[in-house]
Amino acid sequence: MNVNVMTGLTSLGHELKGKSAIVTGSTSGIGLGIARALAARGVNIMFNGFGSPSGIDDVRTELEKVSRIATAFSGADMSSEQAIAQMIEDARTAFGQIDILVNNAGIQHVEAIETFPVFKWNSIISIDLSAAFHTIRAVVPEMKKRRWGRIVNVASAHALVASPFKCAYVAAKHGLLGLTKTAALELAEHGITANAICPGYVLTPLVEKQIPETARARGLTEEQVVRDVLLHAQPTKTFVTTEEIGEVTAFLCSNGAKSITGTAIPVEGGWTAQ
Ligand code: NAD
Repeated sequence: MNVNVMTGLTSLGHELKGKSAIVTGSTSGIGLGIARALAARGVNIMFNGFGSPSGIDDVRTELEKVSRIATAFSGADMSSEQAIAQMIEDARTAFGQIDILVNNAGIQHVEAIETFPVFKWNSIISIDLSAAFHTIRAVVPEMKKRRWGRIVNVASAHALVASPFKCAYVAAKHGLLGLTKTAALELAEHGITANAICPGYVLTPLVEKQIPETARARGLTEEQVVRDVLLHAQPTKTFVTTEEIGEVTAFLCSNGAKSITGTAIPVEGGWTAQ
């Protein structure tokens, strides 16, 4: 069997080759890692998120060339139901169908519950939780027709355990896990799986931003936050990488994972084993 070193695809073709995915929040961090891992398996990618258009154009050009896939981009705001519906339509127009949905876009805010801004609570619930309800309900009918679909929700170790000063995030991620389990049960007989990945700390812009916020909330220095709060939670004492989350996502999308549904998969260096 010949393996193309540029694409990682075998001469027989990868089982996911030619399928199409929406990866929300894929202009940065974990979402970009997931998009790269799926692209390497020949999956067409609808990118989504904020940030510099030229930055994401460069990534799209690279993946189209190296992995020989089609890509599209939607700047849809995941807090807007209408924008989400438009993103789904744009993906159908670009690729003809949606086989894989990765709900990854997310934001965080770290502050004590009594001063936690109401607008931050509302934004986090809508982007980290409600967006997944809107995307799932929009793609399920076509997945049911084809009797094949993969839904991967990027939750968090905070879907399984809480930490102080993260009330909205912990509530949203626990809710996302509940949504995942419900979808899995409803879709189990239709060839569609729904799973949640629960990462520990990954050094992305989302975590970089919460280091000074956590330092303020806990009265620590930023160095103490990294050592005594973030990495203290993870027995491995190292950050998880975006590549690792990408590989777990690709596995969940494979045929080998067709009986894995309704799960919460911790990728957190042992955090929730303690
Ligand atoms: P990130 O800040 O690097 O990326 C977030 C992505 O979401 C970006 O592409 C951003 O543009 C997009 N986004 C933010 N708000 C949006 C909106 N309203 N509409 C559309 N897109 C929006 O963060 P990340 O660390 O890669 O986080 C990705 C996901 O992983 C989040 O759901 C986060 O909760 C989860 N997660 C992260 C960690 C971690 O340690 N980094 C741990 C567990 C879970």
